Amino acid sequence: AACPTIISRAQWGARIPRCQSGVAAPMKYAIIHHTAWQCCTTLESCIQQMKHIQNYHMDNKGWCDIGYSFLIGEDGNVYEGRGWNTEGAHTSNYNTTGYGISFMGNFTNVAPNAAALAAVKNLLCCAVSKGYLRPDYVLKGHRDLGTTECPGSSFYNLIKKWPRFHA
Ligand SMILES: [Zn+2]
Repeated sequence: AACPTIISRAQWGARIPRCQSGVAAPMKYAIIHHTAWQCCTTLESCIQQMKHIQNYHMDNKGWCDIGYSFLIGEDGNVYEGRGWNTEGAHTSNYNTTGYGISFMGNFTNVAPNAAALAAVKNLLCCAVSKGYLRPDYVLKGHRDLGTTECPGSSFYNLIKKWPRFHA
């Protein structure tokens, strides 16, 4: 599986985490989120979103860093959040066993575009081939694991049809 280009923390200008702890791959879960914020369709606007989200998580929520493992833009790029080797802050009780992959935008009434969907499929294949995700990994939506609408009903109805999905 070809791994997608991942826009690194250095490339989007991430702040330094205040703290971090490692996780042991391979992980069992891939957990899909949305940011419920603005969507972005260009590298520049997605980088702007990444910075907003990191600032919000660090300054308003008081977390060590941006909460998600990876983020996906409708520009078709994957953006590095905490990455493969660091525990996230995305899904209560699942941060040490799952990667949180969040789509930038609000997907209550519309699903992400084709470019964003292709990006996550490549990322998931890549994660298995590199040993970050178990070959029998389980894909879930955030709402399967907590009281939230995340990742939005339109998007959730779509991921329910994906082969590794299990509520
Ligand atoms: Zn979520």
